[in-house]
Amino acid sequence: MTNSYDAIIIGAGIIGCATSLALGRKGWKVLNLDTLPAAGYGSTSGSCAIIRPYYSTLDGSAMAYESHFYWKNWADYLGGEDIDERGLIEYHNVGALVMKTGANDYLRPAMALMDQLESPYSEFSPEQICAKLPVWNTESFYPVKRPDDPEFGVANAKSLTGAVLFHAAGYISDPQLATHNIMRAAERSGGEFRYNARVVEIKCANGRVGGVKLENGDTVEAPVVLNAAGPHSSKVNQMAGVEKSMRIKTRALRQEVAHVPLPAGYRRDTACVTSDSDIGLYTRPEQGDALLIGSEDPPCDPHEWVDPDDYNRDFSEQWKVQVLRVCQRVPSLGVPNQMRGVVDLYDVTDDWIPIYDRSDLSGFYLAIGTSGNQFKNAPIAGELMANIIETTQNGNDQDDSPIDFHLKNIDHTFSSGFYSRLREVNQDSSFSVLG
Ligand SMILES: Cc1cc2nc3c(=O)[nH]c(=O)nc-3n(C[C@H](O)[C@H](O)[C@H](O)COP(=O)(O)OP(=O)(O)OC[C@H]3O[C@@H](n4cnc5c(N)ncnc54)[C@H](O)[C@@H]3O)c2cc1C
Repeated sequence: MTNSYDAIIIGAGIIGCATSLALGRKGWKVLNLDTLPAAGYGSTSGSCAIIRPYYSTLDGSAMAYESHFYWKNWADYLGGEDIDERGLIEYHNVGALVMKTGANDYLRPAMALMDQLESPYSEFSPEQICAKLPVWNTESFYPVKRPDDPEFGVANAKSLTGAVLFHAAGYISDPQLATHNIMRAAERSGGEFRYNARVVEIKCANGRVGGVKLENGDTVEAPVVLNAAGPHSSKVNQMAGVEKSMRIKTRALRQEVAHVPLPAGYRRDTACVTSDSDIGLYTRPEQGDALLIGSEDPPCDPHEWVDPDDYNRDFSEQWKVQVLRVCQRVPSLGVPNQMRGVVDLYDVTDDWIPIYDRSDLSGFYLAIGTSGNQFKNAPIAGELMANIIETTQNGNDQDDSPIDFHLKNIDHTFSSGFYSRLREVNQDSSFSVLG
């Protein structure tokens, strides 16, 4: 087995696989290493895999809108329909209906960003919301509360004023398969993948990275190593000794997602993704006639920062909190006895915007801090990282002159300095999973 590569990628989640594919297409010999037994088995497997174009910043929205075209033309991105023996994922391009609330300034900023990017949307009245989602109750319950609050479930005098349906949106029902698809495409470009292989040391020589050491004692050499370790990113940065020099840091945040049986009257034919800051939740249809319920991290819910190697993988009270909040919006939804869904981790930065960058250790790169919102962007993140790595290895100073990146489908160019580890905390961020 070869033990020397052009680049080693720590992690075979969707970000590591997409970067492998992009580097492979540039002719690099790449090895992905992952502790787990297959690609996409880490936090990517727990992803709700919602695709949507609206973020709080123009560049964040541009990347997300561009990503819609990658998912729509998935086989083109991968390089063929026949790339994966397990078949290709399906993009359910059903749109995302976002409630207008005081918390999102009635979506005026989001619509202004969509206008700038020419990303299509339609405004809905409360009556149109109910026509699309017949089980929906358009009363307002803001601010978001926990069920032990005496005012929980008590509607305000004023109802929701409407919503916006963003059309370049939907979901992927199998995030692990999406990663498998990319992994197979990367293999076709010469990429290699080693599983059950935990990196325990970053090897350095003469002030630059030289490879990695594995738990089983093997070493693998490469002049480039990428940290794409998801919620373990901070641990891997500590191994490389680069964390202290980063202005923006990462840490693991525990999340619960509930899957409940679809309520009576829920119409799958008109159903879509919903995002609702009035009750602090997002939903989408899930396989097996279920409704998926994720949290938008309202201020009343404590953040549970954890050690990614030691956290509670069972459902907690939070699961029921999220289901009860949806019951305000969908009164016909009962609380099932059996808790189903997902417990997993986000890898969160200080401003909930990822880091796609070099580090202070020559040859050591970062594709981390995806903050619960970068599944959709992974194909572009991979291409961006490959460009950052290639130009930096060719002598460009990414810190002084960050590369520009062109989004070809929407004809928009942004500076990769937006994702720098040395940026000031971006005050335009929502400081939540919404990015
Ligand atoms: C509950 C949940 C819901 C989400 N919903 C959405 C959504 O709707 N839309 C959206 O766009 N995004 C969403 N996200 C975010 C998205 O899923 C992530 O941003 C993305 O999957 C991160 O991919 P990754 O490759 O960085 O991480 P991971 O998939 O976690 O991959 C990292 C890999 O690195 C490996 N690794 C770690 N340390 C080591 C080591 N020392 N040696 C070897 N291997 C190592 C791990 O085993 C893992 O497989 C969600 C995330 C979660 C958890």
